[in-house]
Amino acid sequence: MKHKKYVLLTLLLIASSCGRSSLSQGATDVEALLKIGIIADSYGEMTLGIDPWEVVVCHIPIFTSDEIFEPSLERMSLSSSEIVKRLTPVVSYFKRHSYGRYQPVFSAGQDVTISDTEASDDCVERALDQSGPEVRGVMVIADAEHGADEFGGWGTPGVGCTVSCSARDTRRSVYAGAGDFMDYWNGDSPLDLVEHEIGHALDWPHSTTSASNSGQELYDSALDLMSDSSAPRMVISTKRHGPGTLAINLYAARWFDDEHLQILDRSRRVNIKVQLLATDTDLSIMGTRFIVIADGVNSFLTVELIAARGDNAHLKFDAVAIHRITVAGTSGVDRQQIVIDGDMQDGDKWTRDGLNVDVLSITSVDGDIKAEIEMTVKKTVTG
Ligand SMILES: [Zn+2]
Repeated sequence: MKHKKYVLLTLLLIASSCGRSSLSQGATDVEALLKIGIIADSYGEMTLGIDPWEVVVCHIPIFTSDEIFEPSLERMSLSSSEIVKRLTPVVSYFKRHSYGRYQPVFSAGQDVTISDTEASDDCVERALDQSGPEVRGVMVIADAEHGADEFGGWGTPGVGCTVSCSARDTRRSVYAGAGDFMDYWNGDSPLDLVEHEIGHALDWPHSTTSASNSGQELYDSALDLMSDSSAPRMVISTKRHGPGTLAINLYAARWFDDEHLQILDRSRRVNIKVQLLATDTDLSIMGTRFIVIADGVNSFLTVELIAARGDNAHLKFDAVAIHRITVAGTSGVDRQQIVIDGDMQDGDKWTRDGLNVDVLSITSVDGDIKAEIEMTVKKTVTG
């Protein structure tokens, strides 16, 4: 009898201390998360504060040999300063999603022109070369539309830089065809493509629900600006912005801090409950925005609660989403982000390799959207 009591007491002590220490582990104890921080540091303060962008129109000759362009006589009529005006909601989009930590500021630059034999990339090279030292990013809009089967644009954070990072040196840039700025939009341009490309210039990678054998990704997740950016307007035709982005991107941009994340250590058997606040909750409200479940040197799972409102109003319901994040290469755009389960509701469970993630509840009270998550590690993983 005495012996049994002792055993029981020991188990209780282990259980409670396990639970506590499993979630108090710091971000620096998860190697892959640490790498994300080191990569972010190599880009300095790129994602914080005022970010001066120059907007440049590139004139494409009617007889251009670049096959990316639709063979057409039509050209965009907007000047760079008119495009700057049209980007005003993009400034608000990033202020909103960064909780006021980041603000792109657009100004009109000098137009550039390419010859018949030059390509769209030459537009960007020219615009970067002529940009002033205070400009940290150059956005080039071609005045011709891309062919229907071609990509809409691209964006790059350029090379790492920590002090006086002018775009002329880093080559940080965004490029898009004229499609979203043509007259047929009657002044009501979709903005999700430009927001997506700025996302790349903030060093965010794509996300997808699957990665094929060839490594070709499908940008098919309606949960992320960096995947199916047009998802909101495909569901609600008046929408113009992209969706919000994933918690891991917000963290890499330093729009979430370590205090907004909890880490589940899989090297010990544990059962624990965590309350998540929706990722769009104002940062003045304390609480966990996402959970990181470490399970490899270069990878981890994230668990977050995405509220079906605002830029995510196209989602049917508030949902808990699990992604697998794999850190690769030397910049964030090389990171692999795959949806494991993008729509977990009350009572849904996800189980794999001795790990259970249960959504006990999702509640919405006076605009506060919360989820209660129970996690159980049955089989431990080390290394
Ligand atoms: Zn992209």
